[in-house]
Amino acid sequence: MSRGEDLYQLQCLDREGEGKRRRLAEVESEMADTSDLEQARQRLSQATVVARRSTAHQTDLELALQGLVDRIAREEKRLYGGTVRNPKQLEELQQEIASLQRRQAKLEDDLLIAMIEGEEVESRLREAGELLEASETGHRARQTELGAERIALDLRLAEISAERTALMPGISAADLADYDSLRRRKGGLAVAQVRSDTCTVCGVAVSANRRWHLREGDLVHCGNCERIVVLV
Ligand SMILES: [Zn+2]
Repeated sequence: MSRGEDLYQLQCLDREGEGKRRRLAEVESEMADTSDLEQARQRLSQATVVARRSTAHQTDLELALQGLVDRIAREEKRLYGGTVRNPKQLEELQQEIASLQRRQAKLEDDLLIAMIEGEEVESRLREAGELLEASETGHRARQTELGAERIALDLRLAEISAERTALMPGISAADLADYDSLRRRKGGLAVAQVRSDTCTVCGVAVSANRRWHLREGDLVHCGNCERIVVLV
């Protein structure tokens, strides 16, 4: 290989390595990102709190209702038991029972509403559980996929590094410094191919004199963009 071709080969490896390292960083950042899972966990935890509150509210209503039913039963026993004979007291007792029954009806309505709401809350809780499960399944699958991609990237990066090392003895320190400097100054592209006597990066024709030097295996730069040029 000519001096330019060695450098072109080096550039191919360096550019591929940069791409792979960029992708590796993306893969690792995505692997560390658990925000979807966290969100699903948060939603389930909120739904659990609401469901617990709803169950407690229903239990309170049921207990209050039971207490009221027991009390009405006791008052009715007094009313019909014959122990109270005084007509005024009997009338008061009847009124008291009627008032308790109105409260019972109200409590029964409240309990029915609470039960309907409870069903909705339970259904939301189930949905949140299913969503978390789906998120976890999806997350696991994606982690496996990304893990495999990371292994492939690591392998290729190791190959690139070995290929680069193998290339190094054929490149002089001066050519390497030239290459590095051009890469820094020319947007990562130090070496340009020449096709149809034209630099493929800047599009300007390469002079006959430079093409002659190229055929001789010399290190030649594009007269316009200054990049090292190589024949395809
Ligand atoms: Zn050029």
